[in-house]
Amino acid sequence: MHPAVTSKQGSERMSTPTTGPVDNGAVPRTVLRGAVWPGDVAFADGRIVAMGDIAPLPGDTDVDCTGCIVTPGMVNTHHHLFQWLNRGAGVGQELFGWLSGLYPQWRELSREDVFHAATVGLAELLLGGCTTVFDHHYLVPQGNVEVFDGLLDAADLVGSRFYLGRGCMDLGNSRGGLPPDDVVEPIDASLAHIAELHARAASMPLVDVVVAPNSLFTSSLDLMKATRELATELGAGFHLHLAESLEEEEFTLERYGARPVELIDGIGGLGSDTWLGHAIHLSPADIRTIGQAGTGVAHCPSSNARLAMGICPVTDLLESGAPVGLGVDGAASYEVGRLLTETKMALYLARLRSGKASSMLPQDALDLATQGGAACLGRDDLGQLAAGYAADVVVWQADDLADFDSPVDGLVLGPDRLARDVWVAGRQVVEGGRLVGADISRSRAWLSKRR
Ligand SMILES: [Zn+2]
Repeated sequence: MHPAVTSKQGSERMSTPTTGPVDNGAVPRTVLRGAVWPGDVAFADGRIVAMGDIAPLPGDTDVDCTGCIVTPGMVNTHHHLFQWLNRGAGVGQELFGWLSGLYPQWRELSREDVFHAATVGLAELLLGGCTTVFDHHYLVPQGNVEVFDGLLDAADLVGSRFYLGRGCMDLGNSRGGLPPDDVVEPIDASLAHIAELHARAASMPLVDVVVAPNSLFTSSLDLMKATRELATELGAGFHLHLAESLEEEEFTLERYGARPVELIDGIGGLGSDTWLGHAIHLSPADIRTIGQAGTGVAHCPSSNARLAMGICPVTDLLESGAPVGLGVDGAASYEVGRLLTETKMALYLARLRSGKASSMLPQDALDLATQGGAACLGRDDLGQLAAGYAADVVVWQADDLADFDSPVDGLVLGPDRLARDVWVAGRQVVEGGRLVGADISRSRAWLSKRR
């Protein structure tokens, strides 16, 4: 865990993952039995309590997983859930043109819009095996902070573990920034509301609030400094878009005479409690700086490909010591919005970038989607199947992959699929491929009507 970050993990886990809780059968267990990988998995009271060949105990609830693969719940490290409203936007454009077309449409964004878009986006992620979602919400039209309540309501309805990135921007058109003036906020207003949300989330077991200024072409250096200080003061994570496009680099060179990583490092913005969205255009020195700081990177391979932004140097970052996770980014630049497909895309892009098939193996790619993402968020109780870890668990039907020597190779390289069953903190949220307790049909109808 990041030394400076105080997340919810302490309240959920009573002991470290290496020792794990005592499996004495005092609390009734759910036991997933017969999976081809990694064997049986038992959990109780929100945590994994046993792995491997598990002897039955009275009171067990057994789940037949014959022919299935069981994985940790995947962790999405970068998203903009509200963009489900804008799938298919600017299909022939790169980032700045695509954004310039979208900002005017986002000026009327309401709490209900955000709720319905987030409900569908979170449901798609959960049905696809992603149990933890970081959402970077930077759009506060005319100061309407109710949009954040829309996100929290959606996460509560669907049942995801939710990291709310309270985004902000202060650099509107009139000051040389990209967004229209009426979707940016005064710095003081952003800071006050971030602190308020952070305090509210203290009573929400599955919610964390992250301080998340948008990007260098929408947020001033004053805002970057102030939010960085606030994150430290609150013990919250810090996140921003960085080095996504060459246009961003041109913007910062012209305005500040420095490249994006230099600028953020120069204000003390990097640290082990920071992770960066995209981080594509990095020099060898940037990669060393990020690695030495222990700063994480959210790699969004499909969105980067869709917007022709380039390829994040994932293997170099990992070598430098930086944690790397995966993100689906918003559905306006990656219309699928699911994470398993991103493991395959991350593998493909790493191999194309390096020219070496050995540069990323299927297990490496799955590790990015699970433990790499957890490391970005500063969580050492998520992203792995081991005693003591949170019971965020996914069962994948995999009879059609039985011809693969390695089940994980089959899961990553084989046909795309949805999860059969999913638990978050030991609570079942997907059963037989359907959400448990959440009807999202109203939200789908809202999105189709709005177009
Ligand atoms: Zn993004």
